[in-house]
Amino acid sequence: MKTRPILPPVTELTKRQHDGWACVWCYAPLRHGAVSAGRAEGLIGSTPYSVEVYACPACAAARGLG
Ligand SMILES: [Zn+2]
Repeated sequence: MKTRPILPPVTELTKRQHDGWACVWCYAPLRHGAVSAGRAEGLIGSTPYSVEVYACPACAAARGLG
């Protein structure tokens, strides 16, 4: 089974990362070839919360995705 790369906690994402417009690791704007990086997880107050995040092709390749 392939292990998933570590994602930052959802509370540390920028708005653009949260909205899927920026790479979850290097903050690069995503235009072409964005790769699903999984779900960033965390707590908002005491409520579990997660959001789908994306990586640029370079970060995805470096972490064995895509
Ligand atoms: Zn990146």
